[in-house]
Amino acid sequence: MADFDVDLFVIGAGSGGVRAARIAAGYGARVAIAEEFRIGGTCVIRGCVPKKLMVYASRFKDDFDDAAGFGWTVSAPSFSWRKLVSGKEQEISRLSAIYRANLDKAGVLTIDSRAVVEDANTVRLLADGRQLRAKKILIATGGTPVLDPDIPGREYAITSNDVFDLPSLPGRLLIVGAGYISVEFASIFARLGTKVAIATRGENVLRGFDEDLRNGVRDALIHAGVDFHFSHLPTRIEKNSGDLRAHLTSGIYLDVDHVMLATGRRPHTAGLGLETAGVELDGLGAVVVDAFSKSSVDSIYAVGDVTNRLALTPIAIREGHAFADTVFGDKPTAVIHVNVPTAVFTTPEIGTVGLSESEARAIYDCVDIYSASFRPLKATLSGRAEKVCMKIVVDGATDVVLGVHILGDDAGEMAQLLAIAVRLGAKKADFDATIAVHPTSAEELVTMR
Ligand code: NDP
Repeated sequence: MADFDVDLFVIGAGSGGVRAARIAAGYGARVAIAEEFRIGGTCVIRGCVPKKLMVYASRFKDDFDDAAGFGWTVSAPSFSWRKLVSGKEQEISRLSAIYRANLDKAGVLTIDSRAVVEDANTVRLLADGRQLRAKKILIATGGTPVLDPDIPGREYAITSNDVFDLPSLPGRLLIVGAGYISVEFASIFARLGTKVAIATRGENVLRGFDEDLRNGVRDALIHAGVDFHFSHLPTRIEKNSGDLRAHLTSGIYLDVDHVMLATGRRPHTAGLGLETAGVELDGLGAVVVDAFSKSSVDSIYAVGDVTNRLALTPIAIREGHAFADTVFGDKPTAVIHVNVPTAVFTTPEIGTVGLSESEARAIYDCVDIYSASFRPLKATLSGRAEKVCMKIVVDGATDVVLGVHILGDDAGEMAQLLAIAVRLGAKKADFDATIAVHPTSAEELVTMR
């Protein structure tokens, strides 16, 4: 033990790293954690948390529009991007400080520096060149936006790292890609007043999600004013006195204030020294790990987006906790990445858990589908042309619910609770036997026949 400065050295103080550090320290381990940017990681600083705040900001637009149907007269509302950005900054600073305080309370040494791996038990801090010997090293460095497509003028484009702190609300924005980040920001900016266009390589949004929900999100974005350029990507971006001109494969060009690349994220392992320490990386640069998050080197583990298993915050947290239980708590815990609920915070939003209809049909011989599409009660007076979509995917042979997919208000909240039922192996008959909560949208889940 005397050979080591710490029992655990964590590189990266995001969701996974912080959880692992605190739980390991709780088991009595001597823990240090290094962060090169800001404590809290992608989720807190430039991901889930500020994004959700901006989703809330954007939804006031709909509330103002809807209010008249309920008797309100709302005089012309105005929006301040600066105020939103400064409120967002205050909140993430508060959260970052809480993360730091919780690490301190747990007895974890927090180091504000980039750290790199020298060998299986040694890290070097770039801030002062110090070397530390660690019994175990945990890589929790997350991911970073990929800068695709690789086209002339790509250097003028921004990514989700930059979008939260733009100096002003863009008048015109082109987003490239059709995944989570693209559709969420398109939904946000279209409501805040930006003219949004999306260019994609595919013919729909959100590949991998249930087809009905994909179509529903696409239609809702079109309804919100988003212009889609399906199967057409930029070929080059030119800068002309402040404006950007994006030329598309269709032959047209768009003049915009910003082009945002939302073409995925890749594991953040470049320059970390992992290859020299003998850590196996896959073709995308992800740390290859076993079910207990151990890499090909016995003393080096990895959790979260850097392993590219399922790039979601709650997964990183669960993996970090399981790592600490396994290595320092004498409770070997594997994380099973099935039936993971997730939400996409468009407006309306997606909440989903389990297999999509097409995934289920590829695995099971007999799949029963129960679906509903209806106008929510609120839309009757607001006059909003809005539909809630729900789909329950059931194994016809056993009646077990394989997946539930919702597009509508609060779908993310519903998915969290549905995930418990799906995890417990609930049958469609259990849904049917459950009494409805009335009047809600969720009651449809137990009344669909
Ligand atoms: P996604 O992987 O979700 O989507 C990437 C999009 O970019 C897809 O439409 C993809 O097309 C397209 N694409 C990929 N490469 C290229 C290329 N070379 N040229 C053109 N288009 C390309 O990534 P995001 O960046 O949206 O988000 C990253 C991750 O962050 C997500 O996977 C998710 O795990 C996480 N996240 C989660 C959120 C949540 O939980 N609400 C919110 C935001 C992010 P195709 O479909 O054809 O592959």
